[in-house]
Amino acid sequence: MTTIDTAAAACTVLSPGDDGWDEARATFNLLDDQRPELIALPRDAGQVVEAVALARRAGLRVAAQGTGHGASSRDTLAGAMLVNTSRMTEVEIDHAERRVRVGAAARWQHVAPMLSELGLAGLHGSSLDVGIAGYSMGGGIGWLTRRHGLQANAVRAIELVTAEGEPVRADADHHADLFWALRGGGGNFGIVTAIEFEVVSLPELAAGSFFFPIERASEVLRTWTRLLPSFPEELTTWVSLIHFPPTPDVPDVVRGQSFAIVMAAHLGRESEARRLLRPLEALAPVMDTLGPQEPIALGTLAMDPESPLPYRSTTALVDELPDEAADAIAGLGGAGGALAMLQVRHIGGAFGRRPEGAGARATLPGEILVFALGVPMDAESDAAVSRGLDGLDAVLEPLAVGEYPNLVEHPVDASRFFDEATWARLRDVKSTWDPADLVRGNHHVPAAATAG
Ligand SMILES: Cc1cc2nc3c(=O)[nH]c(=O)nc-3n(C[C@H](O)[C@H](O)[C@H](O)COP(=O)(O)OP(=O)(O)OC[C@H]3O[C@@H](n4cnc5c(N)ncnc54)[C@H](O)[C@@H]3O)c2cc1C
Repeated sequence: MTTIDTAAAACTVLSPGDDGWDEARATFNLLDDQRPELIALPRDAGQVVEAVALARRAGLRVAAQGTGHGASSRDTLAGAMLVNTSRMTEVEIDHAERRVRVGAAARWQHVAPMLSELGLAGLHGSSLDVGIAGYSMGGGIGWLTRRHGLQANAVRAIELVTAEGEPVRADADHHADLFWALRGGGGNFGIVTAIEFEVVSLPELAAGSFFFPIERASEVLRTWTRLLPSFPEELTTWVSLIHFPPTPDVPDVVRGQSFAIVMAAHLGRESEARRLLRPLEALAPVMDTLGPQEPIALGTLAMDPESPLPYRSTTALVDELPDEAADAIAGLGGAGGALAMLQVRHIGGAFGRRPEGAGARATLPGEILVFALGVPMDAESDAAVSRGLDGLDAVLEPLAVGEYPNLVEHPVDASRFFDEATWARLRDVKSTWDPADLVRGNHHVPAAATAG
């Protein structure tokens, strides 16, 4: 084991067995078991500088974590210091400029309620529990993306401590290569201390869900799929097949039950949303919650799990879902299936448009994103979950046109997420800023001079 003198460090640094060790190494997915050599808990950028210096002296690599939502896709932390930024959650909102600056571990829930009061919204995803840093650096997609594009494109500046231990601010005019790489290449280029981004005005929003018995999943999916070409970018809809657990944290009306749910967010009037969704409404949902909403409603619309849980997942981007695929998906996510949640998200629109000055991940291909997870509680259910996910992969593989890295929750060769030129450029930037590969983000980008 590496031993270093941490007594002089103002930044709290934990060794295995210290009080708070298990809490500091925990992640959202309870199947993860991160075992770094040390964990630094900086309070500000100055303490991140100290932590990086300490790691360098000790011959350790460094890896950052704000919330642990994206930890499953990172390689082992053996020989690494985990820089747990969870104490860095400051938020500044510039209402007039529609601009927000947050600390490295701020979650969407730290900004979304305040923004909503102002009639504004950030381009967050399905869960406000997710951290802004990891989400933004991997792309960032949610209810507003079809209209407003990926969150990575809304980022205006990133402050970080480099592998050399230098604090720098990267934006369009300063260290433009680094700024480009961070917006899509993830946490591979330094330890981020703050991030600035633009938010959008939402003067009118209708949102809510149509709930159907899970047995109708096939019919709902087929109907929804046919409607997609008629939906404007202002409307984003998903079909989610969810088996709600019978636990007290789940609302009474759905607890212990399974539904095929059409979820909708429309940047406009409820009447217009209902007109667009009429063929789905005509299927007579057992519960209908669509109505005018404040922006904050988008934070809970997806009904994502809010507490850490053990899970395995899979995902793919596709152009279309033929009826046979919709039926197969309905079977895998439906009654008696082992997949606790299966989301079929409509993407397209601004997902495919690259704004000027964009970073390494500005767009995603496809019209539909599928994501599913299962929750193994024992060996038997683990095997059933794996069979369910394998079955879904078999359905999606022939249709897949790509993957969205933030939802690929296991370590893979990250070159598969980028075209050749983008991957080569990411590796060049890595060579410039971290040639010794000190900083290890999830979905690793190696320096150009080193192999894989
Ligand atoms: C319940 C749930 C719902 C989700 N929904 C969506 C969704 O709708 N849309 C979507 O796009 N994604 C979604 N995601 C995926 C999510 O965007 C990724 O898991 C993302 O990596 C989380 O970022 P984080 O900062 O919260 O997590 P962390 O685990 O803290 O960080 C993830 C990675 O980001 C990098 N990173 C984080 N902080 C720093 C830092 N300070 N410096 C350098 N690198 C850093 C590192 O590479 C790190 O490994 C969801 C995930 C979960 C668990």
